[in-house]
Amino acid sequence: MPVESGDPVPAARPVIGDAEIDAAVRVLRSGRVVQGPEVAAFEEEFSALVAGRHCVAVNSGTSALHLALLALGIGPGDEVIVPSFTFAATANAVRLTGAEPVFADIEPGSFCLDPDAAAAAITPRTAAIMPVHLYGHPAAMDRFAALAERHGLALVEDAAQAHAASLHGVPAGALGTVGCFSFYPTKNMHALEGGMVTTADAEAARTLRLLRNQGMEERYANEIVGANLRLTDVAAAVGRVQLGRLGEWTERRRANAAFLDAKITGAVPPPVAAGARHVYHQYTVRVPGRREAMRRHLDERRIGNAVYYPTPVHRLRPFLRDGGPDPRWDLPETERAAAEAVSLPVHPTLTEAELARVADAVNEGGAA
Ligand SMILES: *Cc1c(COP(=O)(O)O)cnc(C)c1O
Repeated sequence: MPVESGDPVPAARPVIGDAEIDAAVRVLRSGRVVQGPEVAAFEEEFSALVAGRHCVAVNSGTSALHLALLALGIGPGDEVIVPSFTFAATANAVRLTGAEPVFADIEPGSFCLDPDAAAAAITPRTAAIMPVHLYGHPAAMDRFAALAERHGLALVEDAAQAHAASLHGVPAGALGTVGCFSFYPTKNMHALEGGMVTTADAEAARTLRLLRNQGMEERYANEIVGANLRLTDVAAAVGRVQLGRLGEWTERRRANAAFLDAKITGAVPPPVAAGARHVYHQYTVRVPGRREAMRRHLDERRIGNAVYYPTPVHRLRPFLRDGGPDPRWDLPETERAAAEAVSLPVHPTLTEAELARVADAVNEGGAA
């Protein structure tokens, strides 16, 4: 058994290399820094990743979700079905429009929204379903699409963690009415901060462009009320460099995950549904009954590890009712995942030696 722990293996290692720095400097020297040619090029290049859909760049993934819902006409009086086992941004975006998030459970075994639970949560007020491709695994979008069609609902993908994921060959961002991506530094690719909305609907794309820039396409010819959620050209230039490496990085993430799948015996590895291409934003295992002991062991071995998300969103303060969880939400699979899940390093810059240390530490922790 190794006694030395070695250097820490970080949970994430965002890349800001010479190419990103050179791109940013080039834009800064050009003087065109706000939503100019770099943003237009970034949108066009990103479109190739989402089966040619229209792409509208914004300043964050949260803005992407918020604007997507606004462009769909969702607001006060509407309900949007979301998972609770996600980052708070998913439900925050719903609340920011004045609509109400309705929390539905995740699938047993998986970490994504359960189509049966979503179906059971539909009411006459439901306007949209917003599954999350959590950890980089596509949600069961074929079933959600059928459900949305049957009930006349919009289908919004929270693809913030799922760049280049796909289901039955259809990429994330092209599986719903609207798709939303994040370019936060720890995501599979970044633009310092940033987001992208994708849609096949040209009219919706135009509305999104208006909403991100004061409601105007032509200067001072304001058509609707909008915000300023523009992406900078500096960010877009960094995003373009990262997009160019996404394919290679995704293969590395998948190879790293395959290595861990083959080696790990001390925890339950992440499930992959039939037809799903998982891009491992996180490599998240389950450790039923003894996650905290496992985490202490990983900490001792200096293996980065994190719990996303320790408190399900429906139990976060803004979503409580009368100081406690809303009695409408009964989400046993969400609670179980929140108690069992721990994410391990899987990012593309890990060395083989680091990966081996991750697997060894998990197996020791599982046997202890
Ligand atoms: C990161 C993330 C977001 C928000 O993206 P930002 O760019 O940080 O605003 C939304 N949903 C999920 C699932 C995320 O992981």
